[in-house]
Amino acid sequence: MAQVLIRNIRKSYSDVVALQDISLDIPTGSFYTLLGPSGCGKTTLLRTIAGFHRQDEGSIQVGQQILDTVPVHQRDIGMVFQDYAIFPHLSVDKNVAFGLRQRKVARAETRTRVAEILKVVQLEHLAQRMPHELSGGQQQRVGLARALVTRPKVMLMDEPLSNLDAQLRVDLRKELRFIQQELGITTIYVTHDQEEALEMSDHVCVMHKGIIQQAASPWQIYQQPANQFVASFVGSNNFLPVTVRDGQVQICHTIIERAPQSVVMAGANGAGIVAAIRPEHIQLSIDPHCATEEGYINIAATLNHQAFAGRELRVSALASDKTPIQLITQPLLDYLELPAHSPVRLLVKISDIGFYRNDEGGERV
Ligand code: ATP
Repeated sequence: MAQVLIRNIRKSYSDVVALQDISLDIPTGSFYTLLGPSGCGKTTLLRTIAGFHRQDEGSIQVGQQILDTVPVHQRDIGMVFQDYAIFPHLSVDKNVAFGLRQRKVARAETRTRVAEILKVVQLEHLAQRMPHELSGGQQQRVGLARALVTRPKVMLMDEPLSNLDAQLRVDLRKELRFIQQELGITTIYVTHDQEEALEMSDHVCVMHKGIIQQAASPWQIYQQPANQFVASFVGSNNFLPVTVRDGQVQICHTIIERAPQSVVMAGANGAGIVAAIRPEHIQLSIDPHCATEEGYINIAATLNHQAFAGRELRVSALASDKTPIQLITQPLLDYLELPAHSPVRLLVKISDIGFYRNDEGGERV
């Protein structure tokens, strides 16, 4: 069941259209991430849900309540921001108690709920500290506790980890997700960090220029991008030109046997098609005569450069038509020691190749 229903939201700032016809269903208890590059409209959407902005058109519903005319403080929504937004002159426990005081919750209950939530975010031993005596990660957990203590129906989080250093970000991702699941709280999370989005979320909505590009599970977003934008924004991809002639599909002078019929059809009238292949989906063979297995393509290439990165070897190669191709493989010494310009073969499972129209929409075919 959807906890948050967003229907046909449109929002402009004078002549800038920040959101165009956004509709989303956010299931109860889910961790739902809005992902996209800077300026795509994610913060505007979050702030519209919170009530800081009024949409030009469309409607937002939380549970049974339509929020469109409900002021910010009457929306049952908690918010956590990038800059923590905690009060510098109040101790940790007083910061956390703030929302309950405003709601005139009795003192004894306030004490119990503050203690409970500080335990959840693992700050009970720091309850008396002042914010300036805390690390960035601890301050962010105070921000989280303060938002959670009022038990809102929905939590909104705008890049809450982006001011923290890399290791702490990774640790707090797990903690945040754990707390969200423990409390079963519907969470809408904004980030431009695709790894964070994939790792934490039940659902990811990729946005670009105020338009939803794809809303799906992390697995689908990564494995079946809906269009070229999603394929290029989430993870890495090699984009290779495709030719379709007389029912035959070729990538880098290599014929794809039994190419998907949808690609043959889409390219039949001379429309441009592009193939997307992820670096980790390319197998390297140092035998220039290696055979092609059923269901694979086998691209002739020469080696350009290898970069040893410990866990993996990053290889750049040049296909026979001079298209550059990047791949990631096991760091075998045999690969690392190959001289530049060695002939190699690049093997790719046909089912691992994404095909997209090479036009503005870049739709998957
Ligand atoms: P970021 O990751 O950089 O925060 P975002 O995806 O959250 O970006 P928004 O802040 O929602 O994007 O902005 C969407 C668009 O609306 C951008 O083109 C931005 O320049 C514009 N915009 C945002 N706020 C205003 C404002 N107050 N006045 C005018 N234009 C605005």
